[in-house]
Amino acid sequence: PQVKLNQFSVVPWIPTAVIEEEKPGPIQIVRASESDYIFELDNAALEKILLQDHVKDLNVVVVSVAGAFRKGKSFLLDFMLRYMYNQDSVSWIGGNNEPLTGFKWRGGCERETTGIQVWSDVFVVDKPDGSKVAVLLVDTQGAFDSQSTIKDSATVFALSTMTSSVQVYNLSNNIQEDDLQHLQLFTEYGRLAMEETKTKPFQSLMFLIRDWSFPYEHEYGLKGGCKFLRKRLEVKACQHEELQNVRRHIDSCFKNIACFLLPHPGLKVSTNPHFDGRLIGGDRNNDNLYLECRTLIAELVPLLLAPDRLVEKEISGSRITCKDLVEYFKAYIKIYQG
Ligand code: GDP
Ligand code: MG
Repeated sequence: PQVKLNQFSVVPWIPTAVIEEEKPGPIQIVRASESDYIFELDNAALEKILLQDHVKDLNVVVVSVAGAFRKGKSFLLDFMLRYMYNQDSVSWIGGNNEPLTGFKWRGGCERETTGIQVWSDVFVVDKPDGSKVAVLLVDTQGAFDSQSTIKDSATVFALSTMTSSVQVYNLSNNIQEDDLQHLQLFTEYGRLAMEETKTKPFQSLMFLIRDWSFPYEHEYGLKGGCKFLRKRLEVKACQHEELQNVRRHIDSCFKNIACFLLPHPGLKVSTNPHFDGRLIGGDRNNDNLYLECRTLIAELVPLLLAPDRLVEKEISGSRITCKDLVEYFKAYIKIYQG
């Protein structure tokens, strides 16, 4: 006789964690609590990510993108993820009519909060010298519109600078004197918090200028960016003392400073928050802007993430592992809670 399936329990028992396989995504690890503006670290979330068996003892590379809201950080991070998930492919950037899907740094329904998010997948990369490193991607956001938010943002920027090996400072249009002053404030916080060291406390800083509109003065990309930055950070005798100090200070904090100029990506990108990377049926002039921007993104991302370019995080001159990084986060957050 035929067995009636519904007489049996046909669904074997599976732990829920297996059924609801978690999709990779951004995880908020530091947030400012709204009631008292105290910064909180989500220890459990951080440990879950960094203490995974396959990464916890590897040296860590921390690449962070920092800056104000709504300036294209998530858009860039989506390309960085594309690169990391397609390490072995020369066509990692995808086709013109392929949507940028899968990964969204946009916080979903969550309101934009000042704080730090990390990508839940830690990437393991083989460096050309045969060693394996773990790569953590970090998104750092702040608001810069009032004195109180500047102080919070300074804290977040300082924390992320202290815990990253590469900090990308995402700015739009130009480097304003304001941006340099913010940077001085941020790094001053960070420097005070680090033990007194003779060496420069931080590793790499990359200014990333979005919507650069003077390519006839300084060409797009790294070369034009570095020429522009050298001019912008030059200390001149005719400058006000304060301006000179900002420049000296920034130089004394970072081992490497670079700048990359990115063109405007076209109105399709800048006006549509749901833009998915596809160019089907578009306006040709506009599409060309996007394609040019994408070509430069394809240059920028490997500068930050190619195996031979990865910079391992060092604290007081020693490389640290994912496990160590958890402890440093805990120690550093205390500085800003006290
Ligand atoms: P975030 O808040 O800094 O993470 O910014 P998002 O990546 O969410 O981008 C905010 C808006 O700016 C979206 O509509 C993006 O499509 C758009 N956008 C992304 N990159 C750029 C850029 O380089 N220039 C301009 N003008 N807009 C951009
Ligand atoms: Mg974002």
